[in-house]
Amino acid sequence: MTYHFSNRVPKSDVDPVGDILKVAGDPKVMSFAGGLPAPELFPVEQVKKAADAVFDQKGRAALQYGSSQGVPELRQVILDRVKVEGIETDADHVMVATGSQQSIDLTGKMFLDEGSVVIVEDPTYLTAVDVFRSYGARFVGVAMDEEGMKMDALEKALQDNPEARLIYTIPTFQNPTGRTMTLARRQKLLALAEKYDVMVLEDNPYGAIRWEGENLPSLKSMDKTGHVIYMGTLSKILAPGLRLGWVVAEPELIKKYTMMKQSADLHTDSLAQYIAAEYFAQNDINEHIATITNLYHKREQIMMAAIDKYFPAGVKHSNPEGGMFLWVMVPGVDDTQVLFDAALDRNVAIVPGDPFFGNETIPGTFRMNYSNTPEDKIEDGVKRLAEAISEVMAQ
Ligand code: PMP
Repeated sequence: MTYHFSNRVPKSDVDPVGDILKVAGDPKVMSFAGGLPAPELFPVEQVKKAADAVFDQKGRAALQYGSSQGVPELRQVILDRVKVEGIETDADHVMVATGSQQSIDLTGKMFLDEGSVVIVEDPTYLTAVDVFRSYGARFVGVAMDEEGMKMDALEKALQDNPEARLIYTIPTFQNPTGRTMTLARRQKLLALAEKYDVMVLEDNPYGAIRWEGENLPSLKSMDKTGHVIYMGTLSKILAPGLRLGWVVAEPELIKKYTMMKQSADLHTDSLAQYIAAEYFAQNDINEHIATITNLYHKREQIMMAAIDKYFPAGVKHSNPEGGMFLWVMVPGVDDTQVLFDAALDRNVAIVPGDPFFGNETIPGTFRMNYSNTPEDKIEDGVKRLAEAISEVMAQ
């Protein structure tokens, strides 16, 4: 049988990230590679209690087909949640999605044709790159520093690509760098989006997990002209297995999203939506977020202290004030794979930076995750990783 795949299907079966996660899953390997929340914090008993209440009180509605825009009770919960981000809005501005990943996918479907330009942070969330690429995107990367996307580089990208369809950004505790865009740059980004009339896709899965610094307003909360589409998710503050996320945008856009959603999967799992809404009714999510934040902060501090102690001089890294990741830059390395291999020889896994870039990569970069490694294991893993880095730097 000859398969005649569409252009959306990757030409190659090589899945470098999948392969990395596979080796990182070996129990012998200490993995800083994944992006998983700490499962020991999943509120299993509370979610079970919420599920029992749903089955007792609304079992038939929860098992029936439902609205493409989402269960009203959950949309109300989402309105309360985005208020914390400074977004005061109403249910016509909200659609529930099957995780942020689906919000990204529907956005690609809605805004991109073959060759459409998507402006991304360099580096950015690799699975968003995959999605946009499947819809024919041409990427224009914007360099970052510790304050997020550089605004002079963004303006140049917009001048050079006036037909750009989207600016995709993760302003707070970015994946993969852990960096946060400053307030001044957020304001400038909005001004540029208005000036060049380009949509901004604001992806904010990590913003609530902050242990240091001041909360910064989301782009959406400062958006006066409807240029920002905001995406949130329960994956990092409750449980990714629920697959619940949301889009906040102008009602005319939400109508389009809802139509696209209908043709994608009719609606997000009703049972999960009712259970999540009930969980929020029975529990204080802010208490739970504080528990998550405290644990990740502890793990991040241990990782940072070990990095300071063991990493060779000249290696740079980001200093996240929240979220799940940090970004490391090793000087003088041409092939990041060599770093990965040297680390794996010592049974430690990281994600090499390459797949996080739309085009040109920055060699010698990699992402580390701290949310999923027990406190007593982190230092030893960092020590072995430091030995691998030293070996590669000496070559
Ligand atoms: N955006 C970013 C930046 C992410 O890191 C992730 C998950 N790792 C997602 C979106 C997708 O999350 P979910 O579909 O679980 O909401």
